[in-house]
Amino acid sequence: MATQVVVVGAGPGGYVAALKAASMGAKVSVVERAQVGGTCLHWGCIPTKALRASAMALDTAKRLGEYGITPGGDPAPDLAAIMARKQKVVDTQTLGIERLFTAWGVELVNGRARLDGAGRLEVTPPEGSPFALGYERLILAPGSEAVDLPGLERDGKVVINSDDALGLSEIPQSLLIVGGGVVGCELAFIFNAFGSQVTLVEALDRLLPIPSLDGECSKLLLREMKKRGITVHTGRICASLERDAQGAAAILEPTPGSGAKGKAAQPPALRAGKVLVSVGRRPAAEGLGLAEAGLELDRGVLQVDRHLAAGPNIYAVGDVLGPRRPLLAHMASAEAKAAASNALGGRELVDYAVVPAVAFTAPEIAWVGLSLAQAGDLGLEAEASSFMPRGLGMAQALGELAGIIKLVHEKGSGRLLGAHLMGAHAGEMVHECALALKLGASVSDLAHTIHAHPTMSEAVAEAAENALGECLHLPPAK
Ligand SMILES: Cc1cc2nc3c(=O)[nH]c(=O)nc-3n(C[C@H](O)[C@H](O)[C@H](O)COP(=O)(O)OP(=O)(O)OC[C@H]3O[C@@H](n4cnc5c(N)ncnc54)[C@H](O)[C@@H]3O)c2cc1C
Repeated sequence: MATQVVVVGAGPGGYVAALKAASMGAKVSVVERAQVGGTCLHWGCIPTKALRASAMALDTAKRLGEYGITPGGDPAPDLAAIMARKQKVVDTQTLGIERLFTAWGVELVNGRARLDGAGRLEVTPPEGSPFALGYERLILAPGSEAVDLPGLERDGKVVINSDDALGLSEIPQSLLIVGGGVVGCELAFIFNAFGSQVTLVEALDRLLPIPSLDGECSKLLLREMKKRGITVHTGRICASLERDAQGAAAILEPTPGSGAKGKAAQPPALRAGKVLVSVGRRPAAEGLGLAEAGLELDRGVLQVDRHLAAGPNIYAVGDVLGPRRPLLAHMASAEAKAAASNALGGRELVDYAVVPAVAFTAPEIAWVGLSLAQAGDLGLEAEASSFMPRGLGMAQALGELAGIIKLVHEKGSGRLLGAHLMGAHAGEMVHECALALKLGASVSDLAHTIHAHPTMSEAVAEAAENALGECLHLPPAK
């Protein structure tokens, strides 16, 4: 008899867990309260990249003269058409997951699930009465939701979150973005390209304040934002917000404890038509009955063991596991494959040391492994070597010069510890470095792998050659 596996949530955690379990011969049902695809497909990765593609097309259209093309007319965004295109992309992918469910024999149950005693869920459908659904193995993948800030609570009209931003019917004339993490920075570039006057405020002292990302990328990102006319305040918080019929008036104060003095301590006041709060996400664990079922939670975050087991016959994957691991779609899917195998008798572990991440800014920033600071904190003797993409023929041909490619490696052995890539196509280039990390490769391995010319990836080889003192495309070291 096939094992009955039930999955809660059909995001990149849940739907991949379901397909994996089905591929291993289990009888699988997925309970989803909304649509298959989760945050990633409906409110995250895919709709943001569809909007970004429109923003980049507009950007290129405005730069046609640089490429020797005579521009015709004045390119302008048509938000209704842009949103319709985005929705078409989302709908195509949604249908794709539904078809995969049918092909693998996965049953989709529409409703909200709640744990209801050992081996049983209560499912509340959109219409009709709740019903019981039994399981032998349960995989929880309910994801996460955007958090509010006190005083800046979402009203969906003036104060919005990323979900609202992806469904706007008008381009805001002015937009204040609170939070300079990946989502805030990506949306800043998109709405700037669409013509909004964008101001971004970040409480910490740098954009993308992510310990595993090199600080020089943050500095260069700030420069790129300024070039495009995005106003950035780091080391400040939105201390007060008055909403009115036209939008909101905000006061930005130095982050308490930042030690800002003189002019830097003056609170700038500004007006914005909309305020987008993007300060993080919390596990969507409410209403699932996790604590009542005896599962361990630490400040709302579900605890699992190394094999992703949260309790007897219960596994959990994805954003519900909170920010102790990256809140990324491919992280959720990697955990999903391991959890599904483990639910069916496996003992798989997830390699959290090699998880590439990408900020789809302009240009892209991608990183994997450790930053130099992190390597130092771990007691590793590490150093960094870099190469600027502007030195590449391909960067010049593309007209995409901004960025830096930096490799972090162990002194002596040259073993690669981390890679920090900023430049055109960085999000594609990072996988060479991820594989190198996974295989324990060194900068020598990277330098002595022939890279095709002309490509942006040559910058990885150049940075590796630089580490060895063999870089011919830089002047000799003095
Ligand atoms: C604006 C934005 C942009 C992003 N861009 C990227 C990106 O470029 N790359 C990247 O890797 N990540 C990105 N992310 C993060 C990514 O979307 C998440 O990490 C990923 O979706 C997490 O997958 P998950 O399966 O854990 O949860 P989710 O995708 O959130 O899916 C959870 C599903 O569970 C369902 N559910 C919840 N509770 C119940 C219940 N009780 N009963 C039934 N169903 C339930 C929900 O309806 C949802 O469909 C982005 C996120 C945002 C917000």
